[in-house]
Amino acid sequence: MAQRTKILTLLREKSVGAQVVLMGWVRTKREGKNVTFINLNDGSTIKNIQIVVESGQFEDSLMAGITTGASLRVSGTIIQSEGAGQDIEVTASQIELLGAADPEQFPLQPKRHSLEFLREIAHLRPRTNTFSAVLRVRHAMIFAVHDFFNKKGFVNIHTPIITGSDAEGAGEMFRVTTLDPKSPPLNEDGEVDYKEDFFGKETNLTVSGQLEGELAASALSEIYTFGPTFRAENSNTTRHLAEFWMMEPEMAFYDLNDNMDLAEELLKALIKYGLENCQDDLEFLNKRALDEDKQKPQHERSELSLIEKLQFVTDNDFERITYTEAFDILRNSKPNKKKKFQFPVDEWGVDLQSEHERFLVEKHFKKPVIIYDYPAKIKAFYMRQNEDGKTVGAMDVLFPGIGEIVGGSQREERYDKLLSRVKELGIHEESLWWYLEIRKFGSVPHSGFGLGFERFVQFMTGMNNIRDVIPFPRTPGSAEF
Ligand code: ATP
Ligand code: MN
Repeated sequence: MAQRTKILTLLREKSVGAQVVLMGWVRTKREGKNVTFINLNDGSTIKNIQIVVESGQFEDSLMAGITTGASLRVSGTIIQSEGAGQDIEVTASQIELLGAADPEQFPLQPKRHSLEFLREIAHLRPRTNTFSAVLRVRHAMIFAVHDFFNKKGFVNIHTPIITGSDAEGAGEMFRVTTLDPKSPPLNEDGEVDYKEDFFGKETNLTVSGQLEGELAASALSEIYTFGPTFRAENSNTTRHLAEFWMMEPEMAFYDLNDNMDLAEELLKALIKYGLENCQDDLEFLNKRALDEDKQKPQHERSELSLIEKLQFVTDNDFERITYTEAFDILRNSKPNKKKKFQFPVDEWGVDLQSEHERFLVEKHFKKPVIIYDYPAKIKAFYMRQNEDGKTVGAMDVLFPGIGEIVGGSQREERYDKLLSRVKELGIHEESLWWYLEIRKFGSVPHSGFGLGFERFVQFMTGMNNIRDVIPFPRTPGSAEF
């Protein structure tokens, strides 16, 4: 059997006259007087290849089975195309129908479907231009992440997915257990006895690999994790999933400034990689976003196209301001004075909501913003306490259209300070013994951050809803596929 050629390879490397075997799915079929045109796509590129069939060349029953969604194996010869829209096409010498797709039942038509509808048929949505483009860009970004860190000498660490520490966001965790939910073993107090459970203790799915990442950085200097994280937060927003992927670099000997520098460098490098390596898909997504924008009222339309936005981020420095500076800007802002914010900004120490973040990024600075030195009381226990006694060395990177894309900090490396914070917050100290102990043996200043991968892919592809940048989204009430 002749070797299969992927359409991407065909378009890049093959010339007129070459014999090829193609395999893929039918996008459209158009019957002319003397010839039939079949548009075939195999997912290797957003582009289709046009297959030309002479009338009467194949049995009618075969031709009838060639409908949108059917899979084919086509042998043929590359010829110069006479039609507009493509340079080359393939004249078929042989066609095999691998799998039919009953047109009465196949839900995808060669027209635009709503993203909401496509979410209901997540098993088929990779067959659409939009999702195949998003998934290819997503792949390229995964590769770019590893490439970036590898070139810098960071070591990739697999942190555990099942965790026994309940330090972070305990309320938002998914429990992992093998106990029988109908009759779990009980202890003397009548509560579920997790000593009897698989791991001999309560365990959950991880919300972050950071704590374990810090242990590895305390030996390997510069590490990163890139794995799934789970948060049982019951928030139905366009930016939250219950299962998402996060990359978390953790670096010994980095202070907060080094941390911000790395986050900015990483984001710019990933975008640059995408602009250079995903041109066809980004051009398609750019057009898609423009079309979508046209449906909106004038004042909601974006000033820049998707590709312009990406270029803008790679070409400009991020704005860096302290929480206190951000607070002052927000307190004196028009929407705050006119009481347009749902959450008013009146007292130093309030947490910044997504409406505030978006005001700063989209209206005030009109570029990505890094806010650092946050009030201690709205940030996690492990963040390094500043001299002022009120703030910690935290930093969030905010992006247009997304809000928070990175959350990070310099970590508290001083044992006593960390312990007193743990006690102050009533955190279960025993379950964190190893995390505390690393501060006793060769402790070093260190920093790290978490970059939500799907939020980044949203920015990269211009997709508004985070459900549309992950193949099988997990959200409250939804785990069908
Ligand atoms: P948010 O305030 O938006 O919920 P967070 O403060 O909970 O974010 P972190 O705990 O700092 O976020 O997590 C690091 C990064 O992970 C965030 O900057 C974001 O990019 C991403 N992230 C957090 N929660 C989710 C989620 N539920 N779904 C997808 N990405 C998320
Ligand atoms: Mn959150």
